[in-house]
Amino acid sequence: MKHYSKEEWLKYVKNELNKDVREGFENHLYGCDQCLDLYLQAVAEEESHLPIILNEADFTDSIMASIAEYKNNHIERPQVRKKSKSFYQSALFHYSIAAAMTILLMTTGVFQSITKYAENVQSPSFKEKETSMTEGIVNKTFAWMDSLETKNKKEGK
Ligand SMILES: [Zn+2]
Repeated sequence: MKHYSKEEWLKYVKNELNKDVREGFENHLYGCDQCLDLYLQAVAEEESHLPIILNEADFTDSIMASIAEYKNNHIERPQVRKKSKSFYQSALFHYSIAAAMTILLMTTGVFQSITKYAENVQSPSFKEKETSMTEGIVNKTFAWMDSLETKNKKEGK
């Protein structure tokens, strides 16, 4: 039985082997306590190579720094929002909304009722203006006719 060296097991642990080789390692591992021991040693050695938190305060600081960085990246977002807000405030946006609302109201029939309502509201005031103008003309005409009549009466006498 061919055994694997600790260096080979380290490669396995570091995932430096291709799939076929890995499968060979794994199949051997099931039936070989000697290599299982080497494998566990390799795992322990590899774990020791992982970053160790030497100073918890520094570790916390680095995490806080990355959070601050994350926040800064998020603070940049309002600028994008401002840009989009200016778009929302733009006339084009309002035109789009107005167009969309018009289509919506027209299709739902609300627009027609609004138009009718507007007509009902507008018409009396317009008629009132018209009648007041007409009344003014009529009154003036009456006044003129009265004066003419009295003139004729005077002259007729
Ligand atoms: Zn072995």
